[in-house]
Amino acid sequence: MHYPGQVSRHERGNRLTELDQTITGFDVWHLSLPVTSRRDHGIGRVENACEIVLLRLTAEGGAVGWGEASPWSVFTGSPEASLAALDRYLRPLVLGRRVADRPAIMETARQAIAHATEAKAALDSALLDLAGRIAGQPVWALLGGRFRDRIPLSVSIADPDFERDRALLDRLVADGIGVVKLKAGFRDHDFDIMRMERIARDYPSLRVRVDFNQGLTPGEAPSRTRDMAAFKPDFIEQPVRAHHFGLMARLRAMIDVPLVADESVFGPEDMTRAASEGICDGVSVKIMKSGGLGRAQEVAAIAAANGLAAYGGDMFESGLAHLAGTHMIAATPAITLGCEFYQASYFLTEDILETPFVVEGGAVIVPDTPGLGARPDLDRIRKYTLRGPTP
Ligand SMILES: [Mg+2]
Repeated sequence: MHYPGQVSRHERGNRLTELDQTITGFDVWHLSLPVTSRRDHGIGRVENACEIVLLRLTAEGGAVGWGEASPWSVFTGSPEASLAALDRYLRPLVLGRRVADRPAIMETARQAIAHATEAKAALDSALLDLAGRIAGQPVWALLGGRFRDRIPLSVSIADPDFERDRALLDRLVADGIGVVKLKAGFRDHDFDIMRMERIARDYPSLRVRVDFNQGLTPGEAPSRTRDMAAFKPDFIEQPVRAHHFGLMARLRAMIDVPLVADESVFGPEDMTRAASEGICDGVSVKIMKSGGLGRAQEVAAIAAANGLAAYGGDMFESGLAHLAGTHMIAATPAITLGCEFYQASYFLTEDILETPFVVEGGAVIVPDTPGLGARPDLDRIRKYTLRGPTP
């Protein structure tokens, strides 16, 4: 089979490089990772465990690359859909292709199945990890080079029991974390106001962001958003449902703190529309929404070209997806507002990486070793697998 952009072995002649190895292995696992607490967001909650899908690609020379799909059913899609997208629809399009042909493989994947952005993010991550391992380069080098080597970390405050979150806040301050994001809009307005007041009073060193995760109705959104804006948070994120572009634009005009879009903007096409309709001052860029690291960089570039800010968001992920996001942000100048890769350190009972995802002094440290810089531990994959091959 001949794919667009593919150069035949005959045409390549003597130009064979290590990255011309073909991809010979494609393994997929569905994991359930226990978590330490409940997290409530505007549109739903996570309790007991978060579910992810892992992809391992193997090249003919034996090198491997890893990727993670981190879906949330109320937001992006289900783990079962990610598993099926990879296992059934993308596998035949990847096996036999060359490691070097990432852009062509990703374009084929985009055309082969609609949506499934988390599965495509896993594929892009695994292709980059594999190429980086073979070339001896960190993933950020393959994405254009390193713009930053530390990324300020924001941790979300989302426990329905605020006393438990106070213990987390104490720990965050002790760890040097400087930014938190209050998840709001899942209970009554008084609960949100009480938590804003308590954080401002008891944790004055913390900067605060607010995220409603679409939790407000069109009727209650104006007054509740305005009341939260009075606390002067860094920004307020996605008060209303993703498709309410007009209402987002009106809320933005009402308040004097930045309004950020998350669920309204998945890929570059949404970003273009959001900018032209003036719905936000900034955007949450996530590889799980955009369908890969390259497309996440496109979203950030469109935001910057339109004078909008960007930060690096995430889903409920393990350290593996955090690493993919970290390399993407390291190589993307337009993502200026830090990241929220906190789950591996502050939410999962146990991460799956062989070596820990590194957070120091309130910032994620960008790895400078080949590929993503760490890989999953096979024993932990075994321990948490719901469905998949023997690793
Ligand atoms: Mg959000």
